[in-house]
Amino acid sequence: MTEKISGWSNADAATAAQEPASENIVWDGNAKTYEWDDEFGDVGPKVPELEIELFGEKGARHKTGLDFSKIEAIEVSQEGPVKINSVRKFADAGLHPVLLENIGLAGYTSPTPIQKYTIPSIMEGYDIIGVAQTGSGKTAAYLIPILSKLMGKAKKLAAPRPNPLTFREGMDEVRAEPLVLIVVPTRELAVQIFNEARRFCYRSMLRPCVVYGGTPVRDQIALLSKGCDILVGTPGRLIDFINRPRVLTLRRLKYMVIDEADELLEWEDELKQILLGGDQDEGAVKYALFSATFPEAAQELGQTYLASDHVQLRVGRVGSTTENIRQIVVKASPEEKQSVLVKLLEEMPGIRTIIFCNSRGEVDRLDDFLFHMGLPVTSMHRDRSQAEREAALRAFRSGMAPILIATGVTARGIDVRNVMHVINYDIPSCMHGGMEEYTHRIGRTGRIGHRGVATSIFTDRDEDMASALIQKLKEANQEVPEFLESYTGNGFSDSDGNYKMTGADSGTGQGEADPWGPSANTAAPPGDVQTDAWGASAPAAAAQPDAWGASAAPVAVSPDPWGASAPQAALGW
Ligand code: ADP
Ligand code: MG
Repeated sequence: MTEKISGWSNADAATAAQEPASENIVWDGNAKTYEWDDEFGDVGPKVPELEIELFGEKGARHKTGLDFSKIEAIEVSQEGPVKINSVRKFADAGLHPVLLENIGLAGYTSPTPIQKYTIPSIMEGYDIIGVAQTGSGKTAAYLIPILSKLMGKAKKLAAPRPNPLTFREGMDEVRAEPLVLIVVPTRELAVQIFNEARRFCYRSMLRPCVVYGGTPVRDQIALLSKGCDILVGTPGRLIDFINRPRVLTLRRLKYMVIDEADELLEWEDELKQILLGGDQDEGAVKYALFSATFPEAAQELGQTYLASDHVQLRVGRVGSTTENIRQIVVKASPEEKQSVLVKLLEEMPGIRTIIFCNSRGEVDRLDDFLFHMGLPVTSMHRDRSQAEREAALRAFRSGMAPILIATGVTARGIDVRNVMHVINYDIPSCMHGGMEEYTHRIGRTGRIGHRGVATSIFTDRDEDMASALIQKLKEANQEVPEFLESYTGNGFSDSDGNYKMTGADSGTGQGEADPWGPSANTAAPPGDVQTDAWGASAPAAAAQPDAWGASAAPVAVSPDPWGASAPQAALGW
């Protein structure tokens, strides 16, 4: 088992990339934001270097290449008393011109369904509960209208802040008085949303900041003390600062967003304290709650804090996953899981892959195991230091370590381009969030109109989850493997040990199983695949370095897609 798997780059480079230097740690939350000078007037000048940092090099900027005909077809239902007329185009939404330009720089050509409804809802001043599948663009759905509304009024509404060019340490510090507070359950998600906010705030006076645990409080106070209009944070650290009124006050707050609201329910007390926030004026704050799944407790939260005439949106079926994600369930005995995993990595090599485990111990163990096989892995869970977590995610995003092993909670809401394969090494049991957790996990692939594969390893111990899993598969028009059906009926199925792909014409793991579905033409055995192993309907992403690239044409990745020269090379890793 220690043999090296072909098709993956080397582990060493990956480790080098993720070893955080002990001194001079660069925290993601310290990333550069647009610096506003009071002399600018209403809109600041362009800053070419920052523009490249935020949006990428001009030529390489992503045009999304999304299949919007598919996206258009997604149904949106409005519940509750308020009905909103959706907008069809960003240009029709009455957005601030700078924001509209930033949307263009980000490469967003059309709004996604949740954005079509959320943008006008917030523009018209309603509170909102938005439930939309993972990867449907919820972040921009709320950031765009909120920032647009504030941009025109920033001078009037925002607290005074020091001029960054003449800032004198120890003298010019101010208290942070954000206009917008975005609360999220995990640190990585906080950083991700901060980055999205950095893009949309470009050339405006609005200054985004992020606060989260595991990083030095002092550094974050230093950032806040330069002024803060848009604050993203995790509950613990936010409470910490709310309890230091000289550092942070919510008295100017105009918008409060709770993202991944259901996951935050675990933080009920903290959430209450934040929602009640202390000193803001009654009725002055607009609330927005977002999630992909919405259990009853989250709905109660909405009833308690949102205005009674709030907008309720559901996009697609709540909690269900898109058909862009091909869901496969393979069977194994507990002892076989590890070799099944290796097999999966062999069959789909060189593509960005996330492996989910239920426990931190298992994450550590697998990391060790795969690392010793020479695979470019990195891993992340709650017991890691924040510097390690940031380094791991950076290595994964950059492609240095294209395999990420994580617990479900740490990866909540994470958006990494080109994640093509999610593996549930452990199926999330009821204790680990069950099918809602499953939905969130597999939603790390198949982001916005792209395609991906999610493979779950099922053992006898997962029997409890069988019926729920079958329902999930059926909802998304996925094939249900026979062995799984047998768990719901009169007991046990064949446990012949051989795991089976559930794909069309699947064999028993010879590599000919076609993870991309019946439309792909991968019937030939591995060595013989000469043409397009990803099939006609294959993900454009696999074939090109930039999944967002304009040419969505399915390209053959290489003559031997399962071999050493596999997609990885095509992907430019
Ligand atoms: P969600 O929160 O619904 O899971 P995200 O907000 O993380 O989804 O968005 C998923 C990805 O889609 C991000 O990379 C984001 O930049 C991108 N995105 C969002 N809106 C659009 C759009 N209108 N066009 C193209 N890409 C978009
Ligand atoms: Mg999100």
